[in-house]
Amino acid sequence: MTKTDVPPHRRILSAAIYARISSDPLGQSLGVQRQLEDCRSLAESRGWNVGEEYVDNDASAYSGKSRPAYQRMLDDLRSGKRDSVVVYNLDRLHRQPSELEAFVAVCESAGVRDVATVTADIDLGNDDGLFMARIFAAFAAKESGRKSARIRRKALANAQAGLPHGPVRPFGYEDDKITIRESEAAVIRQVVERFLAGESMRSLSAWLTETQVPTARGAEWRPSSLGTVIRSARIAGLREHKGEIVGPAVWDGIITVDQRNQVLARFAARKASGRRAPRRYLLSGLLRCGRCGTPLYTSTQHVKSTTNGRQVRRSRRYSCMSGPDHNGCGKLTIVAEPVEQIITAAVLARLDSPQLADALSGRIAADEQLAKLQEQVNADQSKLDELAGLYADGAITAREWMAARVPVETRIKTVSRQITDQTTAPILDGLIGNGTQLAQSWESLNLDRQHAIIRAVLDFATILPGRRGAQSVALERVQPQWIH
Ligand SMILES: [Zn+2]
Repeated sequence: MTKTDVPPHRRILSAAIYARISSDPLGQSLGVQRQLEDCRSLAESRGWNVGEEYVDNDASAYSGKSRPAYQRMLDDLRSGKRDSVVVYNLDRLHRQPSELEAFVAVCESAGVRDVATVTADIDLGNDDGLFMARIFAAFAAKESGRKSARIRRKALANAQAGLPHGPVRPFGYEDDKITIRESEAAVIRQVVERFLAGESMRSLSAWLTETQVPTARGAEWRPSSLGTVIRSARIAGLREHKGEIVGPAVWDGIITVDQRNQVLARFAARKASGRRAPRRYLLSGLLRCGRCGTPLYTSTQHVKSTTNGRQVRRSRRYSCMSGPDHNGCGKLTIVAEPVEQIITAAVLARLDSPQLADALSGRIAADEQLAKLQEQVNADQSKLDELAGLYADGAITAREWMAARVPVETRIKTVSRQITDQTTAPILDGLIGNGTQLAQSWESLNLDRQHAIIRAVLDFATILPGRRGAQSVALERVQPQWIH
């Protein structure tokens, strides 16, 4: 396979020189000028006439991007315009064995046998030559794979060093992705706090739109994009790599790791309990039947207006429901608006009470227990991931997966609820002793925010049966059970 192997009777009339520039961060491959010079002198030493030089400038033949000059060269070989190929090394020509096979097929049908490289000549017209070419192509593919492995290792090393990555400025940080942008950090902290206190992503993204806070790219927030930000490891000062936390980042966190764990637990709890319909009732889940003790459900009834007897208006109610799904007595109902007003007034008054201040002073003692609950949720969450992995690998059946999943999901739900109960207190910061001021702005708060505040102090309220025929809701029917 040296120059002497080229039979003298095959006269090369119009050779193609092919060169390719690839992106090369490690500076290991030759510049295109050097490739061309070496190919020209090789052709000259053979006495081959060069018909045309074909040069591609792509990122990598391995990436599968189109190479226009290469395609043009194949066309010219097919049509007989060129009768041989000179290239610096076979890895300039192909990096995938499949590409080589396509090239060999073109050469075979066009009767092209001579491929010269600076390192070795390949005679495609005999089996040895073809074998060599295939070895070279396989080797080139391996090298190229090794190169991407090097890039992957570099990315992992960056991650392990906690360095930033990605082309886009993250919300909460400056362009260097390290310095905290205080104005946005304050927004993140408030969103996290309100989410932990029970507000939904939908409500919070609507709030950001109202207050004209855009995303890092200047767009309007969506519930999903906001959820991605507050779940991200980044804002807790952690570096994530391929979905896993690899260690502390070089930048400071905007929230604590504990807070982020609470956020994850809340998301897990919501996932386990399914998607929540938009909240339309201030006291959903907070009222109980005074006859049988089961929770009251919300309903909207259409009733004829008493004034003109024709116009239909909606009447919102909370009712005890019988039947297998609810198991209540079905014998109690209360009109929504008056009971909502009574509870709201009671909550606002409660905020100013000395009992509440006393109750909250015992809050710090609960932090240790909270950490334990978080640990349990995290452990259960990884158990779920593990089960999903086993199912994906085919190690367990779908039925087994379901069976194993249900008790874990139930436990996550229960524990997350306990976490929620313990983390609702922060929403009251700044509100304690300010019930009177809050009353002024209460109507301007959205339903989720109002519910979150009520939820933070009220465990539930029992609704006692009313007097038959009573037109208004008596204050005595509402019996609040306070958390704080
Ligand atoms: Zn009942």
